[in-house]
Amino acid sequence: MTFHCKNYDINQDACRKLKGECVPGRRGCVLEGRVAVSEELAVRIKEIDSRLRASRDRKDDQE
Ligand code: SF4
Repeated sequence: MTFHCKNYDINQDACRKLKGECVPGRRGCVLEGRVAVSEELAVRIKEIDSRLRASRDRKDDQE
């Protein structure tokens, strides 16, 4: 099975909706909660979540 997402920008290799990496199933992705992700993808999703959380925390500290 193949899947084409309308949010995927092939020229930028990125997600237009999330303005960042396309990692199917990540938070905010149209597939979030709708598909089972592989262990490898689950690790990438956790990394992205951690990175975004750290970035948000830094912003909160600056305010
Ligand atoms: S992260 Fe999800 S919504 Fe974004 S381009 Fe990839 S599959 Fe589509």
